[in-house]
Amino acid sequence: MTSIPKYPNTQLLINNQWRDAAGGKTLDVFNPATGEVIGKVARASTADLDEALEAAQKGFDIWRKMAAHDRAAIMRGAAALIRERADHIACLLTMEQGKPFMEARLETLGGAAQIEWFADEGLRVYGRIIPARNVSALQMALKEPVGPVAAFTPWNFPINQVVRKIGAALATGCSFLCKAAEETPAAPAALMQAFVDAGIPAGVIGLVYGSPAEISSYLIPNPIIRKVTFTGSTAVGKQLAAMAGSHMKRVSMELGGHAPVIVAEDADIELAVKITAGAKFRNAGQVCISPTRFLVHESQVDAFSKAMVAHAESLKLGDGLAEGTAMGPLANPRRVTAMLDVVEDARKGGAKILTGGERVGEAGNFFAPTIILEPALDSSIFNNEPFGPVAGIRSFKTLDDAIAEANRLSFGLSAYAFTRSFQNVQQIMHDVEAGMIWINQPASPSAELPFGGIKDSGYGTEGGPEALEAYLNTKAVSVVGV
Ligand code: NAD
Repeated sequence: MTSIPKYPNTQLLINNQWRDAAGGKTLDVFNPATGEVIGKVARASTADLDEALEAAQKGFDIWRKMAAHDRAAIMRGAAALIRERADHIACLLTMEQGKPFMEARLETLGGAAQIEWFADEGLRVYGRIIPARNVSALQMALKEPVGPVAAFTPWNFPINQVVRKIGAALATGCSFLCKAAEETPAAPAALMQAFVDAGIPAGVIGLVYGSPAEISSYLIPNPIIRKVTFTGSTAVGKQLAAMAGSHMKRVSMELGGHAPVIVAEDADIELAVKITAGAKFRNAGQVCISPTRFLVHESQVDAFSKAMVAHAESLKLGDGLAEGTAMGPLANPRRVTAMLDVVEDARKGGAKILTGGERVGEAGNFFAPTIILEPALDSSIFNNEPFGPVAGIRSFKTLDDAIAEANRLSFGLSAYAFTRSFQNVQQIMHDVEAGMIWINQPASPSAELPFGGIKDSGYGTEGGPEALEAYLNTKAVSVVGV
């Protein structure tokens, strides 16, 4: 990082123009490390949304007719600019979201790589020639973009969550109207600026902010919008999916999780701790695939817990822009309250708080990395997604018991397991109900791998060729010469 930029106010992006909301309303943006207001974000009115919708339709009419190669060239141009500007974008991201600068920088560079992958994959959107029963007929299945997309993205990965959606949408020829999170507006704005600077035609992308419920209930029913994609909590996802369903819109939902980590009797404990402790406290635990329910064989639970505590206590908390910070603050004060409730609930249920369990400092939303041993099965930590730096550890006797516990909740996003036995691997990979399972390794959700959940964690995937499929219609065409 060369120098820390001044945090900017964020406007709306409509027709490639940045502008204030009609009526000039704004919302405050806070730095979670200090609790201070650092800027403002425009709060869109319905007049702004009408203009954004009209622009999205106009943009779609242009973009869908461009050659996939030309679309890919613009996407690659945007990715190159994001790489060039990575330090600047990462600084904004840390200032508004709190994560350490190095995590923000990796997120930004990873975003550029994802856009490049989607640009290339867009060149391979093939249809099919289907042998006809009438030999003089030519039968085809054509793949066409679904249309203008309304996307709703959260504050935990302000760049990455937009990238997974915009990458697939633009690669398939859809226009993309995004409501990103009001808490973290500047990083997504910088991402969008890269597309504008790379020459994307006006209207193909749009960015709005405001009241989430007002915007979603205005955009989703609008006939211009043909596809809805949301990342956030299961409760909100269910509301938006129901709304989209009543207007027969295509939907992708990437919702909450509560990832089990099965540490088997024969696991490499050192490896399991190294991988899962790092993953647990990344972004202060505000990660949908964060390991959260640790299920450890009874013979290993002491060694595992001690090593987790040692890791948690070694982490340096601080402002994400300060040298040496390993874990930043939580993104907003609601999460600190949520963590205090989770710990209190576990304590009342008879669990041991091995370390942490309290907020840190007077200013900002800092919460100590927390390890809870043997929380009751009906405790909050073992039932509700913590979305913070709190881990619960319970011991198990048999692998069957651990798998039953892994599958007990309605979530099914990611799961982790550590074992040296191939037989255990087979049982875990087939019987654990999750969209993604990582065995003896950290999560590595690269662009080419499907990314998404099952059960209450949503549907649709935001990686691999399936991610593009979610933005395509299939049209059957049969032609007979006359
Ligand atoms: P929340 O449910 O209020 O909001 C989650 C996200 O959805 C936010 O970005 C918010 O702006 C948006 N949102 C809320 N209501 C909306 C609506 N009616 N229409 C459109 N968007 C709407 O929760 P929160 O306090 O911001 O976050 C806490 C919970 O959200 C966490 O416990 C976690 O389960 C979930 N979450 C999940 C992810 C993820 O990556 N899957 C990301 C962020 C938050």
